[in-house]
Amino acid sequence: MTGADFVVRRAGLLVTMVPRGDDPLGRIRNGALAARAGRVVWIGPDADLERQVTLDGDSLDAQGACLLPGLVDAHTHPVFAGARADEFAERVSGVPYENQQSEGRGIMRTVAATRAADDDELLGLALRRVNRFLSHGTTTIEAKSGYGLDLENEAKSLRVLRRLPALAPLRIVPTFLGGHAVPTGLERSEYVRAVVEEMLPAFRGLARYCDVWCEKPAFTPGETRAILGRAKALGYRLRVHAAQLGPGEGPQIAAELGAASADHLEYSSPEQARALARAGTIAVLCPTASFTVPGSRRPPLEAFREAGVRMAVASDLNPGTANSESLTISMSLACIAWGMSPHEVLIGATMNAARSLGLEGSAGCLQMGSFADCALYDVEMPEEIPYYVGVNRVLATVAGGRVWAPA
Ligand SMILES: [Zn+2]
Repeated sequence: MTGADFVVRRAGLLVTMVPRGDDPLGRIRNGALAARAGRVVWIGPDADLERQVTLDGDSLDAQGACLLPGLVDAHTHPVFAGARADEFAERVSGVPYENQQSEGRGIMRTVAATRAADDDELLGLALRRVNRFLSHGTTTIEAKSGYGLDLENEAKSLRVLRRLPALAPLRIVPTFLGGHAVPTGLERSEYVRAVVEEMLPAFRGLARYCDVWCEKPAFTPGETRAILGRAKALGYRLRVHAAQLGPGEGPQIAAELGAASADHLEYSSPEQARALARAGTIAVLCPTASFTVPGSRRPPLEAFREAGVRMAVASDLNPGTANSESLTISMSLACIAWGMSPHEVLIGATMNAARSLGLEGSAGCLQMGSFADCALYDVEMPEEIPYYVGVNRVLATVAGGRVWAPA
């Protein structure tokens, strides 16, 4: 007998995301799952549960609904103050995103609002976003700083990320994104020096990843290499915002430095796709951001598939473009407008996203020893999740072996 402190029983379909036989999603019909201390200790047919598991704790009756691993969102910017709805209105009327990055607007406007907020205000705002992630079935996120852009305010954002797990059971993988933009009032070289010499050494205990936006309005290839090279030497793992608005060297740099992910990639080339595949760098695609930037291009999915690049799909929650904690709407958009298959987006929002965060086998799948993070959906089969557009079909979210309810 296996001892458990939590079970989910009577799942019409339990989707493990661990490929079995010819089923890439590893489905168990009429399944059940048992957990102890936040980890899965038993998984199998519901009919075997009572004979094989002794329960000392709560149970969730799925009543025939579909159980999936908690979604893993591999690209988010959840620590910021202020809103930019007026810029959204301008952009949908045709104003290019790049034209909105002038003084006092765009990222810099969010930086000003974020600098003006204290730790507790920022924490309160981020916590509301965390609750929205959980309500949409997401149980793990990668979370970037990047709206502080100086030592003090980047530290403040990273401290907020560190305090959140005590308030809500969302797993957060913190990323230092000092390389988001050059703040107004500083020479480029002076800012890059501050990132490399002051911030990177100071944030080693606060962030696991370092990210740079390598693109015309942000950082040059040389600056990107300087920041990421130093980050790598200090033990950070790497991510790169690359080739979102136009072609550039970002994807190559990601491959060269062995980055865990290269993100956006709308303008990446087939040659860059091959380099990413060889490096094992995961392509994190952000359709919601793409569709809120007029004139965006579809990423070269055929080249990714042909080269064997693993693809993840992320929300890219941020105040400038993708203002959404719903990963499922990104999944829908990736299918509808880009022609990704429902299986590609399901794998992209679970297994591949987890791999890009170094959590393969623990998050984004349900198997012995994985986190007991899952969500119950009002659907009959997992392919229906991207098929329902902008409708939250989540009935319950389980995080760390407990049914979540907003605090
Ligand atoms: Zn981003």
